[in-house]
Amino acid sequence: MKSAIIPCSTGVCHSLDWKKQLSQAISTPQQLLERLNLTAEQMGDGQAQQLFRLKVPHAYVDRMQKGNPNDPLLRQVWPSEQEFNSPSQYLIDPLGEQASNPIPGLLHKYQSRALTISTASCAINCRYCFRRAFNYADQAFSRQAWQQWITYLKAHPEINEVILSGGDPLMLADAKLAELISALEQLPQLKRLRIHSRLPLVIPERITDSLLDLAANSRLKWILVWHINHPQEIDDRVAAAAKRCQQANILQLNQAVLLRGVNADSGVLKQLSEQLFDIDILPYYLHLLDKVTGAAHFDLPKPEAQAIYAQLMAQLPGFLVPKLVQEVAGEPSKSFAFW
Ligand code: SF4
Repeated sequence: MKSAIIPCSTGVCHSLDWKKQLSQAISTPQQLLERLNLTAEQMGDGQAQQLFRLKVPHAYVDRMQKGNPNDPLLRQVWPSEQEFNSPSQYLIDPLGEQASNPIPGLLHKYQSRALTISTASCAINCRYCFRRAFNYADQAFSRQAWQQWITYLKAHPEINEVILSGGDPLMLADAKLAELISALEQLPQLKRLRIHSRLPLVIPERITDSLLDLAANSRLKWILVWHINHPQEIDDRVAAAAKRCQQANILQLNQAVLLRGVNADSGVLKQLSEQLFDIDILPYYLHLLDKVTGAAHFDLPKPEAQAIYAQLMAQLPGFLVPKLVQEVAGEPSKSFAFW
C-alpha cells in the first residue's frame, strides 16, 4: 500500500505515504518557480524565506495554476519582498499568547478550553500565520511535558475540551497521537477533542486508516477543524479525505482567514462555503488577519472586510455563513467583527 503511487495530470506523482510526501515538499523559491513556469522577474527572488522558511508539498502545488503569478494558493506560500517592510503595529506575538501559557506547550485563554502546542512544525508554511514568529523553543513536546498538561487539566475541571494545535498536531505520527489521546481520555471531565490542522488539506493522505481507527475508538467526540481559504484548494483527493472523516463520525468545521489577494471577495467566499458543504465541512470562522509581523500586505481595513461580509450574508443561507471574528489579546472569547 505504502509504495503505491497516485497518478496525476501534472507529471508529478505522489506516494500514498503522507510522510514521504512531506519529506519531498518544496523548500526553495527556485524549485517552486520552476514547478509553476514562473520567473524571479515576475515574483521576486523569494529572499523573505530568511524570515520564515518556504515549505509547500507538491500535492498543494498541483492545485496552483501554472504561469499565474497571482494564483491565490501561490500567494499564501510565496515569500514576498513586502514582508521586509512590516509596519510597527504588526507584532511577533499579536495575540499575546506567551502571556496565556501557564506551562510549556499549553495555552489556557478561554474558560472551558485548553489548547496544546503539540508540535513546532507544519506541512506547509503559510505566510500570514499568526504563529510564524512564535517562540516554539519555549514550548515542550516531550512525554514529560504531556504529564504536566495532564496535571494542569486535572487541577482545572472547568476545562471540558482540549484543542490539539501547533504547529500542526497531525505532524505527530498516529502511534504518538494515540498515546497522547489515550492520556487525555483518562480525564473524566473531557468531552471533546478538537484538532486544528491544515495537513489533510495539503496532503489528503494524512487521513490514514489508523487515524480513523483512533477516532472510532475514542470516548471523546472528535472535531476536525480544517483551514481552507479558497475553493481552488479543494480537489478530489481533499473531498475523498473529508468523506472518510465524515464516515468516521468526525464533525468537520472550517476556519478561513480573510486575505487580500487571496479570498477578499464575496463571490470567492460564497463558492468556498458551497464547496465546503458539498464535502461535508461546515463553514465555522472567517478570521480577520491577526496583525503578525511580515503579513501586513494580506490585511484589509475592517470596514472593507465588513462590506465583503455583508455581501456574503446576502448571498448565502445562514448556515453557510461563517462567523466573521477577530481575536483580541486578553479577551475572554473571540469577538464578532461585524459591528
Ligand atoms: S499553524 Fe497553520 S496557518 Fe500556521 S503555518 Fe502551520 S499550517 Fe499554516
